[in-house]
Amino acid sequence: MSGTASPRDDADAVLIEELRSTLGRLEAALATIDDALVITTGDGRVQWCNASFEQLVSLPRLLVLDRPLDSLLPQRDDGLPLIPPGWHGQGAAAAGERFTVFLSREPMRALEIEWEPVISDPSRPLVLCFRDSTARVSYATLQEEVERSERRRLQAEVAHQQLQERQMRLAAQVVECPVTGLPNRRALHTHITRALRRLRNTHGAVTLLFCDLNGFKEINDLYGHQVGDELLIEIARRLRRALGPGDVLARLGGDEFVVLTTAEPEGEVFALAERLQQQLGEPWKVQGSVVHPSMSVGIASSSDPLLSVEELVRRADLAMYEAKTRRDRGVACYDERIDQNMRQSIELRRRLERAIEQDELVIHYQPIVNLHDGQIAGLEALVRLPGPEATLILPGDFIPLAERTGLIFSLGAWVLERVLSDLQRLATPGAGFRVSVNMSPLELRRQGFATAILERIHRHGVSPKHLAIEVTESMLITRPDRTSRELQELRRAGMQVHLDDFGSGYSSMSWLARLPIDAVKIDRSFIAEGSHDPRKARVLEAMVQLARDLDLEVVAEGIETEEQEQRMVRLGCGLGQGWRFGLPSPDILESLGKAGGDLSGSRAEQA
Ligand SMILES: [Mg+2]
Repeated sequence: MSGTASPRDDADAVLIEELRSTLGRLEAALATIDDALVITTGDGRVQWCNASFEQLVSLPRLLVLDRPLDSLLPQRDDGLPLIPPGWHGQGAAAAGERFTVFLSREPMRALEIEWEPVISDPSRPLVLCFRDSTARVSYATLQEEVERSERRRLQAEVAHQQLQERQMRLAAQVVECPVTGLPNRRALHTHITRALRRLRNTHGAVTLLFCDLNGFKEINDLYGHQVGDELLIEIARRLRRALGPGDVLARLGGDEFVVLTTAEPEGEVFALAERLQQQLGEPWKVQGSVVHPSMSVGIASSSDPLLSVEELVRRADLAMYEAKTRRDRGVACYDERIDQNMRQSIELRRRLERAIEQDELVIHYQPIVNLHDGQIAGLEALVRLPGPEATLILPGDFIPLAERTGLIFSLGAWVLERVLSDLQRLATPGAGFRVSVNMSPLELRRQGFATAILERIHRHGVSPKHLAIEVTESMLITRPDRTSRELQELRRAGMQVHLDDFGSGYSSMSWLARLPIDAVKIDRSFIAEGSHDPRKARVLEAMVQLARDLDLEVVAEGIETEEQEQRMVRLGCGLGQGWRFGLPSPDILESLGKAGGDLSGSRAEQA
């Protein structure tokens, strides 16, 4: 052979070169995949592996080649070999087999192992693939865990449901209030049913006394529920002492107690109500202070065995609400009027709310006249609520409701606002001319009321000298000091304070000297009755004298006749108000306005 290569040799060389480069590309490609690949001989020695396998066994390829695969692989988490002993003997029998092994559980690491025989090789070498299946296994484990906890949740739910049903079954059997040991609502229902049923055979009546504590919520808020519970126990003890034989005391919940009695006649029932209140009213010491418990009692009776228990309880409840609205918050008896009253008061409340909101209230002004010269010295602003069919509802019929429902504040603000804008229109009111506005004790109880009033006045650019507020004595009974201070603030600004309805309430003559007032308005009952009741006449005389001694102006309210007017003049009373001088009317201020605020218009023109 010469040194020159034959064409065939050249072709082989090219083929070999091509194969090399193909293998090189294949090798490079296999190096990039994540799966660890290894080819072993038939007896399990490594012939070839890729880069991922090097990482799996943490050894470079040079130290791996020709070594038994078993000796290179890491162990499973349970200490067993990664692939079963004698695996290579199974050869093609295990072809395509795939299984997952765990290298560790915390953190989880798993491998999926797959092997295939390389068919073309007679000594049956095998290709093994180790695939990291941690993510898939974790997901499966997670799935399993979720399913397990879902099963646990369902089991717990069923158990809870069973428990609840059991509790409800038990509660249905419970007839006692857990705090006081008294019969509960359910037990009371049974007692009333029986009592009503007995009415079929005997004449008589079943009566409920619905008792509701006053101010129990405040005690709970102030001292906490434990003290509240102690009070309930004490109350149960006290009320029980007042019961007669055969009476049943039950606690409905909250601060509501009901006494079921068959006592008759009505007088007996009232005596029972009185005993209950007396027993309850004893002072109760709590955490160093003394509480005076009180309650409102609603009474409802039936001699009709067919009346439902619910209706009887409803009536007693309604009567209790009626009792709460009364001044003494004492006792009220159900009758159909209460039902009707309730409906009416709901209607009235709606009407008042709407009127305030939509500016539909009306102010009527009644003149206050100087009794010596007949001139109009001022006006009292009186609010009217438009009623059905163009009627007007008088304050006496809606102020108590406004006070009960808190509407009094927006009502009071509306009145003052309207009076101020009316006064604004009156260009030059004469010196000393005042418009009087009535204030509810509730308004005066609000801290900062004086500042709020003065702000409103200034906003309208009206002088406070043209305003007076009329207050009643009751407002001075609660928090007299603070209220007095705020009234002084108004007086310093130029307003006057008039004591309204003097003589009608808790009037105490000795107080008069201490009150921050400029005038007293003597209640109309003294003017009306003073003419035929000599005792009233003497009190009237003394009141006027006392007021004058204290340098207070005196306004006589409700003067209707000339004789009454003359008497008041003789007593030295300076001002008068009443039908004789003019009814309250919406137009007086207008006509005063037209007269440019000239107040020389005589009472005759106004009357
Ligand atoms: Mg008044």
